[in-house]
Amino acid sequence: MKILVVNCGSSSLKYQLIDMADEKVLAKGLCERIGIDGKLKHSSLGKPDYDSNAPMHDHTDAIGLVLDALLDKEHGVIESIDEVNAVGHRVVHGGELFSSSVRITDEVKKAIEACNDLAPLHNPPNLIGISACEKLMPNTPQVAVFDTAFHQTMPPKAYLYALPYELYEKYKIRKYGFHGTSHRFVSERAAAVLGKPYESLKIITCHIGNGASVCAVKNGKSVDTSMGFTPLEGLAMGTRSGSLDPAIISFLVAKEGLSVAEVDSILNKKSGVFGLSGVSSDFRDIEKAKSEGNERAAIALDLFQYRVAKTVGEYAAAMNGVDAVVFTAGLGENSPPARAGICSYLGYLGIEVDSEKNNCRGKEVDFATDSSKVRALVIPTNEELVIARDTKEILA
Ligand code: AMP
Repeated sequence: MKILVVNCGSSSLKYQLIDMADEKVLAKGLCERIGIDGKLKHSSLGKPDYDSNAPMHDHTDAIGLVLDALLDKEHGVIESIDEVNAVGHRVVHGGELFSSSVRITDEVKKAIEACNDLAPLHNPPNLIGISACEKLMPNTPQVAVFDTAFHQTMPPKAYLYALPYELYEKYKIRKYGFHGTSHRFVSERAAAVLGKPYESLKIITCHIGNGASVCAVKNGKSVDTSMGFTPLEGLAMGTRSGSLDPAIISFLVAKEGLSVAEVDSILNKKSGVFGLSGVSSDFRDIEKAKSEGNERAAIALDLFQYRVAKTVGEYAAAMNGVDAVVFTAGLGENSPPARAGICSYLGYLGIEVDSEKNNCRGKEVDFATDSSKVRALVIPTNEELVIARDTKEILA
């Protein structure tokens, strides 16, 4: 069974074709500048890479070019489009309507559309990608896998804000959480690495990349997570502020004469480690600037690590203990100093880092000392594989 995994943004589309027999990635690529001009980067197993600047007026054009690349004699990996048995779509927001992945029907599309208000930048392009695939592959089943679904197990005390309850009833204002596919994958994998039943463990997963969130996974279920109603809440991130005193927004509107949209843009695009350091949103650049003596870069990294560690502490309290802390995503998988910095706050939990084991990048490792009471793991995330596995399971 071959599954095409599609992740549509407003002007981009990432894809992977996965052979489920051995879960091997047969081909993958990225379409960018959809609706502007168009750029496709495609690579296939054992074939030369392929780039194209063919125009992409919309996502249907982009999917068409992806299918052409997959079918191409020189760069492709399939001979007929019928070899694609199903398409799995990443959908950002399933609101309270979806607590697991689903086969896409007209009703499901309507329900995803009903969540557009909750994710105005993400859900509309996700739906456009679904329609484009339906148009070009009308007989191929499609599945939606939601970023929010894993967190639907949170209890009301974790997902409600202390706002008038009517606002929750009227607008569904509550914590949804994101990166659910990643938190699910790495927590399940952590249980396998530890050789213990998933349902018996208290795991804290730190997905720290450009976007960043922490999740408390108790007995295989998300019981709390740091992103909220939107991905702006929680940790400081590449360019997002994370949590702050909400009064700062009205203060800025009054003092700087900014519109709410302008403040929103500052909080989403100009804050986080980028805003603090003034250097970059890329942690590699900030680590380099720190090593060259840049004080603001040092503060940005300190603040980031401090916030991750505080959230881990919160979730250890929420679960009354923790068996393992897991690090994943760009920074979590690749930065020994970031992991060591965060763990330096966690000695009281019983975490002891083995510096030699921690000195690794991009691979699965338990970097706690043998005597550490709590395990500390690096687990590379693989959201595409989860989407492909869910798609396979739903169609079985
Ligand atoms: P992601 O959003 O998961 O792709 O993660 C992107 C972030 O991971 C960027 O800020 C990168 O700087 C960071 N990252 C990737 N590789 C490294 C590395 N070797 N050291 C430090 N940060 C890294």
